[in-house]
Amino acid sequence: MRRNTLLIDADDTLWENNVFFEKLIEDFITLVEPCGFTRAYIRHILNETERKNIRQYGYGVRSFGRSLEETYMKLAEHQAKRETLAEIHDRVVDLERTPPKILDGVPDTLAYLTERHRLILFTKGEPAEQSAKVQRSGLQGFFEAIEIVHEKDMVTYTGLVSKHKIVKSQGWMIGNSPRSDINPALKVGLNAVYIPHQHTWHMEHEPVMAGSGKLVILPGFRELRSHF
Ligand SMILES: [Mg+2]
Repeated sequence: MRRNTLLIDADDTLWENNVFFEKLIEDFITLVEPCGFTRAYIRHILNETERKNIRQYGYGVRSFGRSLEETYMKLAEHQAKRETLAEIHDRVVDLERTPPKILDGVPDTLAYLTERHRLILFTKGEPAEQSAKVQRSGLQGFFEAIEIVHEKDMVTYTGLVSKHKIVKSQGWMIGNSPRSDINPALKVGLNAVYIPHQHTWHMEHEPVMAGSGKLVILPGFRELRSHF
């Protein structure tokens, strides 16, 4: 097989990510429930606040923490307690320090792939936070480059293709998110491997669209071996 360039997503592709956020959100809702709202309503207000804060502050644990605090202040109003705010803050700090839980088969598969292809890690988020996660994962040695952007869209894909001189027919994006990994890659003419993750963040959901490149859907990361 010819040498390809494989752009590989990180969160929920190489390691668990969203499941930790979901767990914290469930605990947060339990904390706020005594203010007299349903769990669904609290979640709805949190989602709205997150959407607003992502536009302003980007992705990342700090933007998320700010959303939790704002949601609490909005719902608790005059009942808001300093101890509860401190507890929310502590939980967010814990989340940021959680060591990456590498997904099944990832190190072996990366070892196999890096012998045969050029690997570039391509993730979005807050640069310091994402690079700390990459460092703690111990996986950085498999990659020729680590690219962290504020948003994975057609503009950043196009920039990456030109920066790394990627021949599109030999370039593949591999990831769990239709919105950030699969659709924009296909739209700029790259190929894509979609590896669904059962806990993909709701804001990453989108129908997978056709593009000019090839699309492969695999049940798990280790199955990449049979394609590359
Ligand atoms: Mg991901």
